[in-house]
Amino acid sequence: MTDYTNPETIVLHTAYHADPTTGAVAVPIYQTSSYDLGDTQNAADLFALKKLGNIYSRIMSPTNDVLERRMAALDGGAAALALASGQAAITTAIQNIAQAGDNIVSSTELYGGTVNLFANSLRTMGIEVRFVDPADPENFRRATDGHTRAFFAETLPNPSLIPAPMQEIALIGEELGVPLIVDNTNAPVICRPIDHGAHVVVYSATKYIGGHGTSIGGLIVDSGRFDWARHAERFPMLTQPDPSYHGAIWTEAVAELGPIAYIMKARCTLLRDTGAAMSPFNAFLFLQGLETLPLRMREHCRNADAVARFLADHPAVERVIFPGLFEGPDKTRAETYLTGGNGALVGFEMTGGTEAGLAFIDALKMIHHVANIGDARTLAIHPATSTHQQLSEDAQRAAGVTPGYVRLSIGLENVTDIEADIAQALDSVGGLAKAA
Ligand code: PLP
Repeated sequence: MTDYTNPETIVLHTAYHADPTTGAVAVPIYQTSSYDLGDTQNAADLFALKKLGNIYSRIMSPTNDVLERRMAALDGGAAALALASGQAAITTAIQNIAQAGDNIVSSTELYGGTVNLFANSLRTMGIEVRFVDPADPENFRRATDGHTRAFFAETLPNPSLIPAPMQEIALIGEELGVPLIVDNTNAPVICRPIDHGAHVVVYSATKYIGGHGTSIGGLIVDSGRFDWARHAERFPMLTQPDPSYHGAIWTEAVAELGPIAYIMKARCTLLRDTGAAMSPFNAFLFLQGLETLPLRMREHCRNADAVARFLADHPAVERVIFPGLFEGPDKTRAETYLTGGNGALVGFEMTGGTEAGLAFIDALKMIHHVANIGDARTLAIHPATSTHQQLSEDAQRAAGVTPGYVRLSIGLENVTDIEADIAQALDSVGGLAKAA
């Protein structure tokens, strides 16, 4: 099969042309829990990883396989793994190389669910997360010690929307022997983290990849570029015999299949044991979304650009947070990493604080009030009283969530209709905004 390199073609043709038995052009949903193993020798070879094939849908599925291969190709990676959610992808990406007594160093600029996972759940598993300000990439070096197993950052964290300085962090990681894991949920196609040095990329497929707000899913893409064996002391889970897989040494066991030790271990041990599998039906829905992802991202970015400029000119708006409007070093970062567009997230601060932010949300007619992003429809939320409600006011401010801050995830409607709804909502709370 041809190795396509253009995103628009990859999402339609990589890894699948037509079903060999039926000729079906759409990727079929293989809705089966298990696969006939053939003769006993074949079964033994499959379990021993002497050959790759289908065994049981908790660990692999031909439907998921096409999604995984297309995502790996899209990001320039060696292989990928589909999981039940973005949270499962992040948890698996870390547990695959870190165990009790280890630590990872993470940017402070994170999705709230990841903050909870890192600050609380990973801690209860004995994995410490050291949070550092990504504004100075050297903070990652300073927080590293002999037990550091990964660096973690988001391409386009909200609410700041300032891209992480991936190139600098990845270089420090290369020097110290620490891989960089990047959450690229908010910037698929428009940013390819592996091109900037990232070693592993994670996604919530729930957002733009699915694109229609129908399913929860996640993905890990392995660049295949990190030399685990060279840093064997740091990565015993990949370079020492694994008691959970009849003593396999992952860097050796799958070497013939390519540089995919990391992702194979995640599939064969963690996915097997924790069971956070993506159902073939959801993989099918993500494949439908993926087919138009490059086109949709272009349109999302175009609409967001127009809305950000519209907001910047509105008297009830104090400040607009959007990479396309940044200046100085933040602008340089946005231009370096967001090469395919500035993303679809637009933040803005209303002059009237909490009261104005809430009134704006309540006045919206077309735009949905939703704790999600990356839908085909435009979505809005007031983070201070919803997604970030559990944080203290100081913690909210540190996270960039001011009382009047509103987050928009710009969709694919005609932009004049998006602007009209925003305009009428802003007009209806104009008095509150000016009272501030
Ligand atoms: N990463 C980011 C940047 C997110 O915004 C989210 C969800 O909002 C997640 C990860 C978690 O994804 P999921 O909801 O699919 O578990």
